[in-house]
Amino acid sequence: MKNITDITPRGSLKDTSITDRFGRVFNYLRIAVNEYCNLRCIYCMPEEGVPFQPQDRILTTNEICRIIRIMKEIGLEKIRFTGGEPLLRKDLIDLIGFAYQDQKINSIHLTTNGLLLPQYINQLIESRISGINISLDTLNKDKFKKITRRDGLEQVVKGLHLAINSDIQSIKVNVVAMKDFNDDEILDFVELTKNNDITVRFIELMPFDSHQIWKTGKFYRAEHLVNDLKSNINDLQSVTGSSTEHYIFKIKDYMGRVAVIPAYTRSLCGDCNRIRITADGNLLNCLYSQSETNIRDVIRKGASDDAVKYLIRNAMKNKLKDGWTAQNQGEDQRASMTQIGG
Ligand code: SAM
Repeated sequence: MKNITDITPRGSLKDTSITDRFGRVFNYLRIAVNEYCNLRCIYCMPEEGVPFQPQDRILTTNEICRIIRIMKEIGLEKIRFTGGEPLLRKDLIDLIGFAYQDQKINSIHLTTNGLLLPQYINQLIESRISGINISLDTLNKDKFKKITRRDGLEQVVKGLHLAINSDIQSIKVNVVAMKDFNDDEILDFVELTKNNDITVRFIELMPFDSHQIWKTGKFYRAEHLVNDLKSNINDLQSVTGSSTEHYIFKIKDYMGRVAVIPAYTRSLCGDCNRIRITADGNLLNCLYSQSETNIRDVIRKGASDDAVKYLIRNAMKNKLKDGWTAQNQGEDQRASMTQIGG
């Protein structure tokens, strides 16, 4: 961790953007608001969970609000709340409300497993959230139980339909694509885009789990997925999507879109605009980064806004060229995506 005396602001304080040496501009914060989750997906967490941090190490409401306020002053435009399961955090709706204050943020999104969506959808609609990504890897009840080690498919599907039928602008379904697990359901997921204006996104499995499920032959490479989609579906047209939706298609006459995210093969680092902050207040300048910048302790030691800005800008300035270079810097990877925020 950097010492507070090491981060005395110098010269660059007038800058109103967060950039790196490769010309990338970072205006998108993905912040994990907790580590707890009400599911135990086999590729994410062991059955017994990971060693969750005590509550006093997790960012408080005020600390999250302060980080957002400070980052707005240096170019933050978009926020995604993630976790853990963000809907388990009681102040989530307040955080969304705070983030929207003063109109600097034009887009706030949520990534959720959907279990609590039926309970919170009305509050989310009222909060004017721009988009919800719902993680759902299977449409089969037994498989759902196998992968998440919990019941709840009906709740998630109910939440998905409530979200689709709301006026929330962007609804996406995130499917971690796995060989011999849900590769036989790819076309069923694609069919969800027939009558619904949603994006179904197939995501490559990543090596962020202590059990290393990804080494067990389940990895389904993005390029293979794209080839399989192309050979099984007629009238697949390329369209434009977000920067991570490296491959994105639409089927003629279908309302929605289908995307493939090369989250492991990482052909998208050149377009990265993301800053990640973990629930315990560490900044990662790359999902695959082996080093973290502790913002929480610097804040708790009384750092000024300018010092925090300097720390954030400096951490992002040092971002490595791509996720492969970052991964090769050492072994100090966190045990689960639930600690990083996905
Ligand atoms: N609980 C929320 C949810 O389920 O969407 C947010 C946190 S979860 C860690 C965020 C995303 O990370 C989910 O879509 C999940 O499928 C994905 N994820 C977790 N571990 C992964 C892994 N090893 N490979 C690929 N995606 C993973």
